[in-house]
Amino acid sequence: MSVTVSIPTPLRSFTGGRDAVAVVGTTVGQVLDELLAAHTGLKRHLVQDDGRLRTFVNLYLNDTDIRQLASTATPVTEGDVLTIVPSIAGGSPATETALPKLSHAEVLRYSRHLLLPEVGVEGQRKLKAARVLTIGAGGLGSPLSLYLAAAGVGTIGIVDFDVVDLTNLQRQIVHGTSTLGHSKLESAKARLTDLNPNVDIVGHEARLTSENALDIIRDYDIVVDGTDNFPTRYLVNDACVLLGKPNVYGSIFRFEGQASVFYAKEGPCYRCLYSEPPPPGLVPSCAEGGVLGVLPGIIGSIQALETIKWIIGAGDSLIGRLVLFDALKLRFRELKLRKDPSCPICGENPTIHELIDYQAFCGIGAEPDYAGVEIGVEDFRREREQKGDDLVLIDVREPHEWEIAHIDGARLIPLSQLPDRLGELDGHAEIVTHCHHGARSLKALEILRGAGFGKVRSLAGGIDAWAEQVEPGMARY
Ligand code: ZN
Repeated sequence: MSVTVSIPTPLRSFTGGRDAVAVVGTTVGQVLDELLAAHTGLKRHLVQDDGRLRTFVNLYLNDTDIRQLASTATPVTEGDVLTIVPSIAGGSPATETALPKLSHAEVLRYSRHLLLPEVGVEGQRKLKAARVLTIGAGGLGSPLSLYLAAAGVGTIGIVDFDVVDLTNLQRQIVHGTSTLGHSKLESAKARLTDLNPNVDIVGHEARLTSENALDIIRDYDIVVDGTDNFPTRYLVNDACVLLGKPNVYGSIFRFEGQASVFYAKEGPCYRCLYSEPPPPGLVPSCAEGGVLGVLPGIIGSIQALETIKWIIGAGDSLIGRLVLFDALKLRFRELKLRKDPSCPICGENPTIHELIDYQAFCGIGAEPDYAGVEIGVEDFRREREQKGDDLVLIDVREPHEWEIAHIDGARLIPLSQLPDRLGELDGHAEIVTHCHHGARSLKALEILRGAGFGKVRSLAGGIDAWAEQVEPGMARY
């Protein structure tokens, strides 16, 4: 039986860039074995040392989770599609009698809504009564807060503690050049209030933590998750399950997005889908991997849509369904999600009854101590003047980043190629690794040290710090 295995973007570097691979086998397990034998680099991403599938990777045969079938023993037939879905770093609140009235100005403003029987005056009053919390005023938070405000959602809470940076504006359309350097809350509030002064924008200028999450979320009817990191995603999920709130999920990476609605009262939660996060560093962030600017516009708009539908009680919600979007192919796919009876927070015998330490849960904070292995850009400049070519500088970024800017005399060996290109390096040389901000170069340092290179250091702050402090004419990104 020839089966097509669909490969997600983060893993395509292990299949020669291909998004689909034809594999022969009679069961899911056999197909997987064949796939891993042909593309060995995939192995550590998909299976544990004991050969079992990693918990943050889900497999779908056609549109059904293999856990709902016979797992890896599920037979496959000619033409089936096996999809690898890794986790990637996205009821009516008020009763009729309590609904607020609309002013004449509001009736006019929302007239195109009022003409829709599915919204009507009652639906618009439900929107006015609704309290929606958006986590993050970034890529996803921008379109969704704009559409929620435009739609007349009465109270929009926003949790964010960041400031508007020039690199944000390629996709974070609620902000603008005039608010560069301002807090994102202040910037978003000004824009949203200009769009619709009838809406009350409530800012929560804080990082969402286990200590404040329940208190912040409790006051809202529905939560829209626009976060970009795993600890906050699990925190938002768990807080919503504990408080019985729906959680409108969206996530984006490069050209691909996911969206769903997690509502444990009626369907699965995020942990039913991914019981554990990937180890730190395995899935690159958008800051490392990039993201097409319009992609959060599409996924964030789906989140706004699902939020509005839930408030007015119209249509079929995304509860129990996961939408996958591929921007390059302009293709939507939909997978069924089921509640996991053994889910640690919403299953039959939950083991999580309160919020936990999500940094530790996601393995963050347990990183090795890098003190002493980093070198600052000023020290590096001085040392390089003395030692010249004896100090080997290895740039572990990608070729398209090198095109933007590079340090003269550096040698480009992308991190993904480093393990295979160690033979090109002199084991006795004094080496400094560098990347964009200094994270990938630490991984490179670990690879080099693990291979026996004794004199390796990593450039703290990467080429960005170099451009800022040493070579001000250099382009930054
Ligand atoms: Zn669950």
